[in-house]
Amino acid sequence: MPPPLRLGLTGGIGSGKTTVANLFAQRGVPLIDTDLIAHALTGVDGGAMAAIQAQFGIHFIGPDGAMDRKKMREHAFTHPEARQALEAILHPLIRQECERQAQETKAAYLIFVVPLLFESGDWESRIVRSIVVDCKEQTQIQRVMARNGLSQADIERIMQAQISRVERLKRANDIINSELDLSQVAAQVEQLHQKYLYLAGLCAN
Ligand code: ATP
Repeated sequence: MPPPLRLGLTGGIGSGKTTVANLFAQRGVPLIDTDLIAHALTGVDGGAMAAIQAQFGIHFIGPDGAMDRKKMREHAFTHPEARQALEAILHPLIRQECERQAQETKAAYLIFVVPLLFESGDWESRIVRSIVVDCKEQTQIQRVMARNGLSQADIERIMQAQISRVERLKRANDIINSELDLSQVAAQVEQLHQKYLYLAGLCAN
C-alpha cells in the first residue's frame, strides 16, 4: 500500500475545523491534530517541558508540572520574542510527532489539522492540498462567544494574529463553507472525501 496522501485542514478561530475534521473521521480518515500534539507536549511530562522551563523559568509551570497555558498565552501575545522562543521549541517537536504519526498511518489519505497552516513554518510544502473551513467573521465571533464566553475584543485580537480571511481563501486548494447548516457541511465533506479517494487512487498507479 502506498503512503497516504497528505492533506492539511485549516480555518480561522471558531470557523468549524473540529466539526469538519470529525466528519472526515466518521468516514474513516485518519486525523493528525497539531493542537492535540502541542497540548501533549506542554502537558504533564510533555516532551517540551524541560526546554520550556529552561527558557522561561518555573513561573510558567503550573503546580501539576504542565505549562501554565493561560499565563503563557498572555505573555506570548504581549512579547513577540517570547512567542518566537516558544515556537522555536514547539514547532520542531510538533513536526517530528506529526511525521511519526503519519508514518504509522495506513489509509488512502490522511489529514493534518493545523489551525495556523498558512502562518507557521513550511506546512504548505508538506501537503498535497489544503482544505480551508470558511464562514463570515461575524459568524466566527458569534460561535466562539457562544462556546466559551470569550469577549468580542479577545476574539478579534486572536483573529488579528491570524492570516486574513481573504488571504486564507486565496491560498486554499479546497474550501468548505461552514456558514451552511451541518447537513450541508457534511455533504461538502462527502464530496471532497470522494475526490481525495479518487486522487489517492490515481497517485497510487
Ligand atoms: P477553534 O478554532 O476555536 O478550535 P474550530 O474552528 O475547531 O474552533 P468548531 O469547534 O468546529 O470550530 O466550531 C465552533 C462552534 O461552532 C462549535 O460550537 C460548533 O458546534 C459550531 N459550528 C461549527 N460549524 C457549524 C455549522 N455549520 N453550523 C452551526 N454551528 C456550527
